[in-house]
Amino acid sequence: MPSDCLFCRIVSGELQSSQVYSDNSVVAIRDIAPQAPTHVLLLARKHIASLRELTGADQSIVGDIFSAAGEIAKSEGIAEGGYRLVVNEGRNGGQTVDHLHVHLLGGRPMAWPPG
Ligand code: AMP
Ligand code: ZN
Repeated sequence: MPSDCLFCRIVSGELQSSQVYSDNSVVAIRDIAPQAPTHVLLLARKHIASLRELTGADQSIVGDIFSAAGEIAKSEGIAEGGYRLVVNEGRNGGQTVDHLHVHLLGGRPMAWPPG
């Protein structure tokens, strides 16, 4: 685990977070700067810097993240109204933390196209 990675330090419990879900491959926390009434980050437990570094061996992690997102949407009460899952990939995608994560945003209508 890279000791200078913010999300690795959150996953390990070294840094505090508001955790909403955890399983063998995923830890979900509330975003520190929420962009919607519900804004949860689903972090891979394993350090994978971005989708560029994802290998076939890690495919199940992506499935686990999506399935956890569906569960969390239900427990947050936004499953029925709808929500958005976002991956910011690389520079143009707006990625700021180099550790694979998916944003779960809900609780308000989302605009399209995104900014
Ligand atoms: P991204 O821009 O897709 O890399 O997303 C990184 C997200 O991490 C942003 O939405 C930040 O608000 C969020 N973030 C940064 N530091 C923390 C933290 N300590 N706890 C929770 N969320 C954080
Ligand atoms: Zn990491």
